[in-house]
Amino acid sequence: MRANGPYGCFVFTDAVKVVARSFYFSTVQDVLASPIEYLKGVGPQRGELLRKELGIATFRDLLFHFPFRYIDRSRFHKVREITEDAQQVQLRGVLGAVKMIGEKQGRRLVASLNDGTGTIELVWFKGIRWLVGSLKPGEEYIVFGKPASFRGKPNLPHPEMELASTWEHGIDASLQPVYNTTEKLAAKGLTGRAIWKLAKALLPQIAGQLPETLGRDQLHLLGGISREEAFRQVHAPQDPERLEVARRRLKFEELFFIQLGLLRQKQATQRNVHGHVFTQVGERLNTFYTKHLPFELTGAQKRVVKEIRKDMGSGRQMNRLLQGDVGSGKTLVGLLSMLIALDNGFQGALMAPTEILAQQHFATLTRMLGGMPVVVRLLTGSTKTAERKSLLTALRLGEVHIIVGTHALLEDRVVFHKLGLVVIDEQHRFGVAQRARLWAKSEVPPHVLVMTATPIPRTLAMTLYGDLDTSIIDEMPPGRKPIRTVHRYDGSRNAVFGFMEQEIALGRQIYVVYPLIEESEKKDGSPSATQDLKDLTDGFESMSRRFPLPNYAVGIVHGRMDQATKDYEMMRFKKGETNILVATTVIEVGVDVPNASVMVIENAERFGLSQLHQLRGRVGRGADQSYCILMTGDKLGNDARTRIETMVRTNDGFVIAETDLRLRGPGDLLGTQQSGLPQLRIADLVEDAALLQQARQVAMRVLEEDPALTEPRHAPIANAMRERADEVVWGRIS
Ligand code: ADP
Ligand code: MG
Repeated sequence: MRANGPYGCFVFTDAVKVVARSFYFSTVQDVLASPIEYLKGVGPQRGELLRKELGIATFRDLLFHFPFRYIDRSRFHKVREITEDAQQVQLRGVLGAVKMIGEKQGRRLVASLNDGTGTIELVWFKGIRWLVGSLKPGEEYIVFGKPASFRGKPNLPHPEMELASTWEHGIDASLQPVYNTTEKLAAKGLTGRAIWKLAKALLPQIAGQLPETLGRDQLHLLGGISREEAFRQVHAPQDPERLEVARRRLKFEELFFIQLGLLRQKQATQRNVHGHVFTQVGERLNTFYTKHLPFELTGAQKRVVKEIRKDMGSGRQMNRLLQGDVGSGKTLVGLLSMLIALDNGFQGALMAPTEILAQQHFATLTRMLGGMPVVVRLLTGSTKTAERKSLLTALRLGEVHIIVGTHALLEDRVVFHKLGLVVIDEQHRFGVAQRARLWAKSEVPPHVLVMTATPIPRTLAMTLYGDLDTSIIDEMPPGRKPIRTVHRYDGSRNAVFGFMEQEIALGRQIYVVYPLIEESEKKDGSPSATQDLKDLTDGFESMSRRFPLPNYAVGIVHGRMDQATKDYEMMRFKKGETNILVATTVIEVGVDVPNASVMVIENAERFGLSQLHQLRGRVGRGADQSYCILMTGDKLGNDARTRIETMVRTNDGFVIAETDLRLRGPGDLLGTQQSGLPQLRIADLVEDAALLQQARQVAMRVLEEDPALTEPRHAPIANAMRERADEVVWGRIS
């Protein structure tokens, strides 16, 4: 079946392509790549639905559609013992009369089930017509579902029903996997249970098709279970112990290959990307350290500076992530690192996410460097044209040593003489692409130090930044008093006002923060931005009435103001001209007003944990005792309560980050789209932290012993890596 092409060569007709494709998929090696519709019991329609709803397009996808839970269906509960808050229950009893009750929207089907210990009501709101015809009163049923409460009594809405007579033969495992499905799929008969059947039907078809991916040593650590056996156990478990071994193996494998990929990437960067070599510790650093530094460095700061110096002297490009809680003194570490660059004849750049922060850094550096011969300049969006021109020229000629700025630094017209180090503050506000543009500013890429005050849980950091070096400042400068955090209900507002009055009398300043959700990020049910804005201005007005001029001054700042007004309000607060600043989260990042000692957070239940922690970090920067007051309404959901309690209990950013991870999951924590996290199908970064640690260590050992993975014992690993190469997109930050 060849057709001649216009130039004498042949082209495949579509028919040939189809034949070729189906032949391709029917060969032994490619069973896993077979379209899901070819699986018995699927077909084109359901296949299309599985693809659309769950992303299951091939046999392989189904194999990797792991159950998220298992139910022990060998056990039966007694009706008498059921409580409303019970998890899933399985009952065995006789079905009573089936009745249709209610009208229109309230129409439902009810039936009773009696198991000899009591009677429970079963109720259905959907699929009524079909059920009426198929349920058989008087027969014994196995009933499975999650109890709910109706008029103070437990009932079972939409239970799974199976005749006891067929059940005995129908289930061949006592452990039943539970699979994710969607409403649309369930409506077409593809319930979780039906997906289980498909998975079981798949198993015999792929027998012998799942080559081992781990070496003997690794398998030994994992109880010796083969890959194929592990998949079989996970989809059709035989007993709980064996299932556990299987799940552990598959989780390990998932985490191991991610770590291996990240570590190999790191290897490659170290081999290929050369960096400026800074060997000198010279004049400027020494002078600054001995004559200008107003305090001792903390142990953690010293250690981190040492790590950075080592990186910058190594001949490789530094790519280091510096994590340190708010107020731990990261800016100083950034400055010291830039001085090392300067001492080696290079320039440094410090980039901040907002104008306010850039100005603040500029002021700090200028002040700290005092009379030293270091030229520091500021470049932001609002730098005047004439000044910018002279600044850019000076920068190009190398007359400016350190430039501090915002995104404006990324513009093409910003050209350096010799850029040696870029310090990026508060990394989560900068996209990967923006950082890449900084790289491009010199032939040999500058060293990069990314500073973040958003602690990332260890497991997440390992997975996300596993190819970067990380430094952690885990020690606060001495003399800081831990911030006292309390939770107050809106009802005790007067007492809170009284406390604010006392603090102001002591000369302190106060932040009052309101949530303001922008229309674009609004979720269903959340108050609108317009309402938020009204709450904020109402709050400002009532604050102004309670703390009136001329004895008091209250300021307001939010994201909808123009930049000049915002800056003006911030400046007034910084200078102490306002006692109270009513604000939104625009003040969240990095702003430093040491005299501010009280942070009042309104509607604290609406903020995420890391945001609360960031906000709290705005106080406690001076020597005074500081306070954070979390105001909430009376009604709190479980998660909100946990967030508030965590804030009250601890000041430790890492503990808070771990809790946040547990509450929100990794995707949400980082912002799903941009997170760069590889998708995990079976492992869980929260639950499997220890296994992740082990997987990373094993991966490191393998690469140490056999960097190119050429030894025969690592052949399965090398093969698996090759296969994965085009599947995985790695998260990177610079
Ligand atoms: P962050 O890590 O949040 O960026 P900063 O760099 O703004 O923290 O530092 C917070 C405050 O602590 C600044 O006022 C800074 O001068 C001060 N500081 C930094 N290091 C020390 C130290 N070793 N001893 C005392 N104060 C320090
Ligand atoms: Mg900072």
